[in-house]
Amino acid sequence: MYRIDLAKPKLPMTLAKEAALDAATAARQTCGTCGRRYFHCIPLKTLGSCLECYDGTPAGPTSYIAPLVPDHRLAA
Ligand SMILES: [Zn+2]
Repeated sequence: MYRIDLAKPKLPMTLAKEAALDAATAARQTCGTCGRRYFHCIPLKTLGSCLECYDGTPAGPTSYIAPLVPDHRLAA
């Protein structure tokens, strides 16, 4: 189906690429109201915040990273 001998090598993940990917993911997982970063993407387009900030539904303590550092990044 595909010829492996003609395939180009996969570009390695660099630290800058990893940081950019983490920043993009963090934007989709971080609530702008409480600052928590969840392990899942939060409905920013429909609710604008996490469910706990939106209607008070308590979030599980294992579902997010507490905002200890204001600018949480993988690599600074
Ligand atoms: Zn929130």
